[in-house]
Amino acid sequence: MIAGSRALAAAALDEETEDNAMLLRHTPNEITERQALSVNPAKTCQPIGAMYAALGIHHCLPHSHGSQGCCAYHRSALTRHYKEPVMAGTSSFTEGASVFGGQANLLQAINNIFTVYEPEVIAVHTTCLSETIGDDIPQIVAKARDEGKIPPGKYVIHANTPSYVGSHVTGFANMVKGMVDYFATANGHKENRINLIPGYVEPSDMEEIKRIAGELGVPIIMFPDTSNVLNGPQTGRFVMFPAGGVTVAELIRAGSSVGTVALGPMASGPAARALDTKCKVPCEILNLPIGLTATDTFIDTLRRIAGVTVPDALNIERGRLLDVITDMHQYFFGRKVALAGDPDQLISLTEFLVSIDMWPIHIVTGTPGKKFEVRIKEITQDVPHPVNVKSAGDMFLLHQWIKNDPVDLLMGNTYLKYIARDEDIPLVRFGFPILDRVGHSYFPTVGYRGGLRLLEKILDALLDRQDRDAPEESFELVM
Ligand code: SF4
Repeated sequence: MIAGSRALAAAALDEETEDNAMLLRHTPNEITERQALSVNPAKTCQPIGAMYAALGIHHCLPHSHGSQGCCAYHRSALTRHYKEPVMAGTSSFTEGASVFGGQANLLQAINNIFTVYEPEVIAVHTTCLSETIGDDIPQIVAKARDEGKIPPGKYVIHANTPSYVGSHVTGFANMVKGMVDYFATANGHKENRINLIPGYVEPSDMEEIKRIAGELGVPIIMFPDTSNVLNGPQTGRFVMFPAGGVTVAELIRAGSSVGTVALGPMASGPAARALDTKCKVPCEILNLPIGLTATDTFIDTLRRIAGVTVPDALNIERGRLLDVITDMHQYFFGRKVALAGDPDQLISLTEFLVSIDMWPIHIVTGTPGKKFEVRIKEITQDVPHPVNVKSAGDMFLLHQWIKNDPVDLLMGNTYLKYIARDEDIPLVRFGFPILDRVGHSYFPTVGYRGGLRLLEKILDALLDRQDRDAPEESFELVM
C-alpha cells in the first residue's frame, strides 16, 4: 500500500472509531420533562417474568397465549441471559385469532402439548394481544378440562400478564401468585415448615437461599425454584424438562406451612399475601437479602420463626464479609454510583452501598411504583450529595443525570454498557438481563457469600480503573 492511501485508510479508521465511541452521542445534557415517551426503558415485558417463574415449577412448560413473535422474543431474552435453551409453547395467533379470540388456538395447544411433550403443568401467560381481545383464560381452561384435553393428574394454570402495565417483575409476581391460587391448599393442620418465596433472582441465588435455610436446619418449600433448571450441568444429553423446580405436591402443601417468608415486596409480596388470605399462612415480607443488613434480617427472621440458633458456619461467612468491608473501606468511601434495574434488587443494593459509605446518586427503575422512590429517598437520606431517583424511568434520563453529575461506577444490566463506553465509566453487571457475560447463573449475589462477590466485583472495577489512570510516578503495587 502506498503512503497516501495508508494515511487515507488510517483517517477513515479514526473516523469510524470515533463514531463507535459515541454510541449515544444524541443524548443531550439538558433534561426536559417527558410524559408519554420512554427512550431505552429500564425494564422488559411482563411475560418474560411469568415465563421465568413458570420454569421454576418441576416439569412445567410455559405457554404464551398470543402471537409467535412475542413468544420468540421472550424465549430468546431468557436464553441469552441464562445461556440455556428455554422451552415454551405459543398459541400462534394469526389474523383469525386476533379478530375472533384465541380460544380455539389455546384448546388445540393444550391438547398438542400434553400429547407430544407430556409436561406435568402448562403455565399459560397472556400477551398484549390476547389481553386486548379479552380472552378469558380460566373459562378456556375449564372447557379444555371438560373436553378431556387435560389428562388426569396434569394441570393448566395461568397468569394475566398485559405488558402495557408493569414490567417483567410484575409478570413474575403474577405467575407466582398463580401458583398459590391454583395449588396451595390448607389441609387443616399446620406442618413445621416455612414457605420461602425467593423473588426475582438468579438460579444461583435461589440455590444460595436454600443453602442458608439448610445451614439453619429450617425445613422449607421454595417456590419458584429455577436452580437446576436454568443453571444445570452439561450432560451431553438434551432433556425437555430439567431436574429442578418446585413440585406440584410441594405447592399444594405450601398451604399448610407455619409461615411464609417472601423476599422482595414487589416480586414476592402478592403471592405471600394471597397464601395468607387463602390458607391462613402468615407471611413476613422482607427485602432481598443482598448485603449485610438485609441478609442479617433474613437469617434472623428464619431463626425466629423456626426457633433455631444460627450456626457458626453462617457467623463465619458474615465475619468474612464484614472483614472485607472494613479492610477495603478506603476504596469504597465517597465513590459515586449510578444504578439501573429492578425495584426489589435496587432497594437492597442501594442499602448495601450506603452501608459501606458509597454514594448511590442516580437510581432508575423501569418498573412503575412510587413506593420505590420513597424507599430509596429514605435509604439515601444521609448521603452527602443530591440523589436522583425515578420509577417508570429510562436509561436516557439516567444518562442525562450522569452527564450533569458524573459518577465513579455504574451498576446494572448489559444495556448500561453503552453509557459506560460513552462516558468512560467502569460498569459492574448486575440484574437482568446480562447478555454479554457469564457467572450470574452460578455465583449468587444474595447472602453473605453473595455480598462478598459483589464487593469483589466493585473493587475490581474501581481498582482496575485506578491502575489504568494512575500517572507513572504514583503507580504502585498496592494503590
Ligand atoms: S410488549 Fe406485548 S406485544 Fe410486545 S413482546 Fe411483550 S407481550 Fe408481546
